Amino acid sequence: SDTAPVAVVTGANKGIGREVVRRLAERGFVVHLGSRDQQRGRAAEGVLRADGLDVRFLHLDVTDETSVALAAKRVADETGPLRVLVNNAGIGLAEQAPSQTSAEQVRHVYDTNVFGVVTVTNAFLPLLRRADSARIVNVSSSLGSLAAAAANEDPSGVFPPGRFPTLLAYGTSKAALNAVTLTYANELRGTNILVNAVSPGFVATDINGHNGVLDVEQGARIPVLLATLDDDGPTATFLGEDGTPGG
Ligand code: NDP
Repeated sequence: SDTAPVAVVTGANKGIGREVVRRLAERGFVVHLGSRDQQRGRAAEGVLRADGLDVRFLHLDVTDETSVALAAKRVADETGPLRVLVNNAGIGLAEQAPSQTSAEQVRHVYDTNVFGVVTVTNAFLPLLRRADSARIVNVSSSLGSLAAAAANEDPSGVFPPGRFPTLLAYGTSKAALNAVTLTYANELRGTNILVNAVSPGFVATDINGHNGVLDVEQGARIPVLLATLDDDGPTATFLGEDGTPGG
C-alpha cells in the first residue's frame, strides 16, 4: 500500500469516528485510528483489521500537545504525506442553564472541541501540505450554527427560543469550531487543502446516551463525503446530515 492515500481520524475508537475510519479504509485509505486510550483504541483497531482493513491504532489525546506531536511524528515516519484529517474527537456535558454553568466547565469542553482541533490541525498541517491534495473535515454540530438560529429570526430581529444558543459549553464550542474552520479555509484557499465542517445529525452514540435517531452509518456519510471531495470541491462550507449547506 505504498501509494494508498493516508487518513487520520481523531476520537475514532467508537461512535461516528470509528465508522468514518471503516468507510475510508474500505475506500482504500490507510487509516490511523486516533484514540486517547490505548486499550479502547487497540480494541477498535482489532475489530476493523479483522475485516481486512488497513487500520492502525494511533495514540492521540487532542488535549495533550505532547501526545499530538508524537502522533504527527509517528504518521510522518510511518506513512508520510497526509491526504485526510478528520477532527472528530468531541465531548459534551450534561448541561444546566448558562447561569448554572461554570467557566471551568466551558473551558473543559473547549479544551477538546476547540483548542484540540487547533493543536491537531497545526501539528498535521505540514504533512497535509506534503500531499498532492488534502482535506480537513471538522465534525461540528447544528447546535453550534448561528446561521441556523439567524435564519429563524423573526421580523423584530429577535432570535427565537431554539436549541441554539441554549447550551453554553457545547453549543458555543461548536460555534467557535465553525469559525475556526473558516479561518483555516481562508488561510489555505488556493492551496491543495480543502477545509470544511459538518453536522453529522442526531446520531445514537455515547455522547447522547444513544438517544440519537440516526445510526453511525448515516452519521459518517457526510464526513466521508467531505473527506473524499474532488479537487474542485468546496472549501469553507458547513454541511448538514443531508449534505445541504448550513448544518
Ligand atoms: P462518542 O462519544 O461516541 O465519541 C467521541 C469520541 O471522541 C470518543 O472516541 C472519545 O474517546 C473521543 N474523545 C473525547 N475526548 C478526546 C480527547 N481529548 N482526545 C482524543 N479523543 C477524545 O460520540 P460521537 O461519535 O457522537 O461524537 C463524534 C463527534 O460528533 C463529536 O465531535 C461530537 O460532538 C459530534 N457530534 C455528534 C452528534 C451526535 O448526535 N452523536 C451530533 C453532532 C455532533 P473516549 O472513548 O476515550 O472517550
